[in-house]
Amino acid sequence: MNVRVGAASDIGQVREGNEDSFLVLAPLYAVADGMGGHRGGEVASSLALETVQAMFERREGSLAEQVTEANRAVFERSQRDRSVAGMGTTLTAALVDGDRVHLAHVGDSRAYLLRDGELTMLTEDHTLVHRMVMEGEITEAEAETHPHRSILTRALGVDGSVLVDENDVQTIDGDRILLCSDGLTGMVPDGEIREILASTTDPQEAVDALVRVANSAGGIDNITAVVLDFEEGEPERSDTTEAVVGVPIPEPPPQASAPGPARASRYRHTRERSLGPDPAGGPRPSHSPPARRTARRVGVGAGITLTVAVLAIVGLRLYLDSQWFVGVSNGRVAVFRGVPAEVAGFRLHSVVVETTVPAGDAQELALYRDLADGITAADRASADAIIEQIREDVASAQPAGS
Ligand code: MG
Repeated sequence: MNVRVGAASDIGQVREGNEDSFLVLAPLYAVADGMGGHRGGEVASSLALETVQAMFERREGSLAEQVTEANRAVFERSQRDRSVAGMGTTLTAALVDGDRVHLAHVGDSRAYLLRDGELTMLTEDHTLVHRMVMEGEITEAEAETHPHRSILTRALGVDGSVLVDENDVQTIDGDRILLCSDGLTGMVPDGEIREILASTTDPQEAVDALVRVANSAGGIDNITAVVLDFEEGEPERSDTTEAVVGVPIPEPPPQASAPGPARASRYRHTRERSLGPDPAGGPRPSHSPPARRTARRVGVGAGITLTVAVLAIVGLRLYLDSQWFVGVSNGRVAVFRGVPAEVAGFRLHSVVVETTVPAGDAQELALYRDLADGITAADRASADAIIEQIREDVASAQPAGS
């Protein structure tokens, strides 16, 4: 199969930075959506993709093993460097191998297949709302507008080990695969994504249109999309190299605005969200995102209440007791136990320690602007380290002598 690629990453309309990254290194393609505050998110998503790339270029391991290694790299960095403590990232990767595509996936970025005009999701969201849908607590439609739909149950870099979903797809001529971050899927309904994918011919035109529509829908989050078009035939652009799996094949950079040397792997740097419990993988979080401005469904409240009850039975309490974050309590920076979320009026956290640091002072610093949303910590010690860092940063930002 020959593969034509389009890729774009956009900051969106609201965020101050882009914490999404993507990788285009034929035959390897990936998107990653970082979280954990500005810096943490950027570091997590780009470090994850760099790690996958490095192993891929050394022809080391399977795709899933490369993703597992990316998890380790992000986790170790967040343990070592407290400025990025608690960071994490999603990662959805596709490795083209002849007419097969291997997918590896963690988090709520997605892969879709458009075939004969039909759009199929190839990945499963590792989110709390997806679990609620699976357990019959809420409907798919309710999940789409659920205020906590960004709470992840699995992400890279938040624990020493991670469960990586794998999926294999047999492609046929005319297939189109989309990899994207939730900045697209949170803003644009699947039906509309399908229409755009079905009505555009050039893959770059497709990703540009997707980004444009997500932005006009509000662009609340960073938006990243990579489109792969599969055509019968040998890969076009292998001048010197046979199209061997595992060998990066040069290709023109897909970004329209970035003419440049081929063979480029490119990264872009979203948004923050929270993590909730996952029976299969490691949890942990970051911030909670603004909700999409879409009509809420009546009945959600009842569903949530029921879900809260069910989750409580299956150990939500135990889970929450093992989660930590730094946030704001009574106008002061504070350490919390739990996750920075509230479901149907139930707060999923409690204050452990209120510091003397005024939250306003911290929030004046760009890094801690979103403090009220919560900065996730791996454990109590990390939470204390974050507090210490905030103290230092606030102190050094004060005029001398004050
Ligand atoms: Mg995102």
